[in-house]
Amino acid sequence: DMYGDRQNSLGRDYSQAADREAHAKALETVDREKLTSGPIIGGKLRAGIDPQAVTNPFDRSQVLGHVSEATSTDIDAAVEAAGRAQIDWDRQGGAKRAVVLRAMADALEADLDRLVALLSREAGKTLNDGVAEVREAADFCRYYALLAERDFAAPQTLKGPTGETNQLILHGRGVFACISPWNFPLAIFTGQIAAALAAGNAVLAKPAEQTPLIAAEAVRLYHKAGLNPDLLALVPGRGETVGAALVAHPGVDGVAFTGGTDTAGAINRSIAARPGAIIPFIAETGGLNGMFIDTTALKEQVIDDVIQSAFGSAGQRCSALRILYAPKESADALIEGLKGALAVQTVGDPADPKTEIGPVIDSESRRALEAHVERLAREAKVIARAALPLGSEKGDLFAPTIAEIPTPDFLEREVFGPILHIYRYEPSELQSVASRLAARGYGLTLGVHSRIEAFAAEVTALVPAGNVYVNRSITGAVVGVQPFGGEGLSGTGPKAGGPNSLIRYAAEKAISVNI
Ligand code: GLU
Repeated sequence: DMYGDRQNSLGRDYSQAADREAHAKALETVDREKLTSGPIIGGKLRAGIDPQAVTNPFDRSQVLGHVSEATSTDIDAAVEAAGRAQIDWDRQGGAKRAVVLRAMADALEADLDRLVALLSREAGKTLNDGVAEVREAADFCRYYALLAERDFAAPQTLKGPTGETNQLILHGRGVFACISPWNFPLAIFTGQIAAALAAGNAVLAKPAEQTPLIAAEAVRLYHKAGLNPDLLALVPGRGETVGAALVAHPGVDGVAFTGGTDTAGAINRSIAARPGAIIPFIAETGGLNGMFIDTTALKEQVIDDVIQSAFGSAGQRCSALRILYAPKESADALIEGLKGALAVQTVGDPADPKTEIGPVIDSESRRALEAHVERLAREAKVIARAALPLGSEKGDLFAPTIAEIPTPDFLEREVFGPILHIYRYEPSELQSVASRLAARGYGLTLGVHSRIEAFAAEVTALVPAGNVYVNRSITGAVVGVQPFGGEGLSGTGPKAGGPNSLIRYAAEKAISVNI
């Protein structure tokens, strides 16, 4: 069993004074450093254009550093260098590439405190989320190293009746554009790159506009870990400019994207319009994720798991819970419990170890969420909102909200933030309610809380989902054991962190020799 002795990355123990001190020191370092991000090509930071300040979402007066946007000349140079370097990288085979990816995992872990501090400051991640994210980034590197060794180190011999020697080889496609989101600015950023590299590709990585500093640090770590810098360029900038240029570039041989469903649609159309080229598009997008409870569910466990799923990471996970389906009979008791649990959540500075819910990513997002709460107040019922600390207006803190919706169709699209919608259903309605959720076209995560296997089986059959979680929270898929990703409007697959992750990053060559 090749996976048998595989291990996931370990975290920190903040009950230990030494770990707490390391965190405090790392925050001081990040606050002093004033990092610079911009186009990094051949390992060198270029000037780019349109420099912008990067600020802390909890306190907009704190400038963390600056980023400049990659120009089309930068992108051309990066594609050129990547294309040249890729040929040798691909020929080296999976075993050699695995060595570099494992060195990257070690480098991430060695730099954990600083990365966690930067994740808090730039992306609003709490301490727990930050640590989990560094670990996940390291896990992706080590897991894809394993797949590189499994599938890319030696040809597979296919025995059969032709009398020839038939071999199947997997190899890289060329240059991949990896376009990643701000909600996992380290784990998904690093993971996409690791997948593309493991399969034998070179990469141009475009981080989200909100989180270019952590991305630059990840690229520097890859290079420090021994990756030929030509194989990985950073090309920060807006989606409409840099993203669009990457997707349309004739030297780009594949696109990996994690982000909103609408953006994925636009990329898909742009790829379809490329003259004379068909390239793979790997998309991981949004979800309209439900959790179905029946009357046998254990109330305390449901409350814990719902709070975690809806409000953890400030609801800014595509896996997060959006609609809780509570049976009429137990809905009142459940809602009371949820109100109590929400009231004791600590909302505040994500860098403070006590904080459980940090800010949302930017003011645009905060305003959209507030507008949604206004709609809920008008057309549904706002049940509870968590308290914000004094001084919250200096940044983008948003009060986590629980609302009850009057119809199962109230929500048409993903609302990306800490808002939990509850719908009370009659047991006789279960099928129709689940089918109406399915009709929205998403298929990412799905939760069930029940002691009855048949109930879980029925809900699972009715609602499309890439990841189904029974009697637990619905976020936090673990690399290597819970491959993550959806279907329909939620993504193309293959899943991240699973045994089939690399297949679409690769091309297959069958070689038949008549001896
Ligand atoms: N993999 C994450 C989880 O399981 C979600 C990733 C995302 O939000 O894109 O919660």
